[in-house]
Parts: sequence; C-alpha cells; structure tokens
Amino acid sequence: MKVGQRVGETNPGRKRRRNEDAYVCDPPLFAVADGMGGARAGEVASSLAAEAIKVGDSPEALAGGEERVAELIQEANRRVHQRAVDDESASGMGTTMTVALFHPDGSISIGHVGDSRAYLHRDGRLEQLTEDHSLVAELVRRGELSPEEAEVHPQRSVITRALGTDPDVDVDTFTVQAVEGDLFLLCSDGLTSMVDADTISAVVDRNRHDLYAAARALIREANERGGDDNITAVLFEVADGDPDDETVEAVLTQPDEEDTLHPEPASELTDGDTSIVSVEEIRSALAAESAVDAVDAEAGEEEPHASVGQRILAALLIVALVALIVLLVVKGLAR
Ligand code: MN
Repeated sequence: MKVGQRVGETNPGRKRRRNEDAYVCDPPLFAVADGMGGARAGEVASSLAAEAIKVGDSPEALAGGEERVAELIQEANRRVHQRAVDDESASGMGTTMTVALFHPDGSISIGHVGDSRAYLHRDGRLEQLTEDHSLVAELVRRGELSPEEAEVHPQRSVITRALGTDPDVDVDTFTVQAVEGDLFLLCSDGLTSMVDADTISAVVDRNRHDLYAAARALIREANERGGDDNITAVLFEVADGDPDDETVEAVLTQPDEEDTLHPEPASELTDGDTSIVSVEEIRSALAAESAVDAVDAEAGEEEPHASVGQRILAALLIVALVALIVLLVVKGLAR
C-alpha cells in the first residue's frame, strides 16, 4: 500500500495575530503541532517540534512502528524543553504534537501528546483516534463534566500534557491497520473547537476526490464559525500500490487567495489563551473562582486612543469655546 493524495494546510484564523501551529506533510511522516507560550514562543515551540521529527524518509530513519514514533516525539520534546531552559524569552513554552507514520504494509503508527487530534475517515464515517490530553476531556472521562458542558467550558483550551514542559513526556502510541481508501486527518483544536465531527465528516465526504479542496473547506468552516484559533489540517489517503512508484497525484499547497476569508483585525488578545497546567492545579483554581477572573482580566481590552485628527479638532473646539466666553465676558463688562 502507499500514500495517495496528501495535503497540509494552515491558517491563522480570524482572531489571532500569529499562527502558532506547524505541520509536517512529508510521506511517510505526517504531524500537527500547536504551540503555546508568550511572545513568539508558541511559534518557536511548534516549529522546533515539527523540524525535530523530520529525520528524512530513508527506511532506516523511519524503521520501527510505535516505538519509533515515540522516539521522534521524545526527541522533539527534548529540543523544545532545552530551548525553553536556555532562552529566557521562551521559558514555559510548549506544544502539542500528533504524529502519523505510514508503513508499506498499510499499518499506521500514531503518537500523540496534547489536544490536537487524529481522525480516521472510512466508509463515510469519521472516527476520532486520539484522546485529548485536556482538562475538560479529563473531567469528562471522570464523569464530572458532560461532553456538552466541555464544549463551552471556559477552561476548554487548558491542556494537561505538552512537549517542552519537562525533560521527558508521556506519549500515547497505537497502531491502526489501514485499508485502501482510508483517509486520515490530523488537525489542531482550532478546527475541532469550531467545527463538530459530523460537519468535518460531511465536508471530507463532499471533497473526497480532492483533498486540497477538503482541507481548504475545513478551514473555511472553522473561520465561518468564528475562527477563534489557528486552524491546521493535514489529510492523507491510503491507496493500493507500491510506495516506490510515485505516480501519485501529489497535492499542491500554494494558497490561492481568492477564496480565503480575510481575517478580521486581530483582537488585543495577543497571546493564545492556551496554557498548560495540571488538572489538580486548575481544579483548585476553579474552586477558588479565581481562574475564570484571571482569564477575563487577560482578555481585557486596551483603551481606545483618539486619532491625532480627533485630538486637534477637540483642541480647536476648546479654543473656540474659550474665545466665545472671553468675548461674552468682555462685552458684558463693557455694558
Ligand atoms: Mn490551538
């Protein structure tokens, strides 16, 4: 078996000034990383992680299944963590990472940390393969929150596991046996927090024969629903054939601007509101009812500043008013 069409697309969304997502679409290796951290640290974290796993496509470099994927993610973690330690401006940065490695026997090794996701689209059905390492997913698993409550929870972007925060990271790994026609989707939470699974499935179905169109349509759906976060989608299909004969319809990824939604001016929320904490930390914070307030304060807007023109106009008005008063007083005195 071989990889047929594949495509990677990313978009900043409509609320964020920066795109802190990164992806790899380099058969047989695919990945999505969603970075977080102050200033440019989120971008640094996700791009470092994406670069770290690009070890070349030689059979030796990518030999091994789940263990190899776990090693790649551990190496990515070490690099992000080392940078966070060395560079004060990058301190506390982190990134999610979801990796898929295709093998010619049709097995796909998946490795995963954070709240980006891997999905399998088979026979018109979409199945979520990964489990989110997020506070709300954790609370849902414990039965303390319903899935519906999780979707609107103020702390829904808090993740409980990330690359970069510790010298070692706990990586989820598993293997999926693909069949011809299977389609895999790796994506950041900027897609899944905006677009429900049924819609994702329908969009993929509609664009099944053109994965480039599918990726762009998914991004458009997320932006039409608000585009609150950076959106990344990596899609690849499993086809019949020998991976070595590359007669494959490789997909172009040049953005054609005409059907791109123009992002709204970025809000004052410069930093992503994603953060990494332990579940216990956030629960005690929630209990103290301070966490939500902190988020609100963070989102506080800057005072709007009057333009120079408006200020001059105001000054002129005051001068005219003062002149008028003086004139009236002088007239009154003269009488
Ligand atoms: Mn995100």
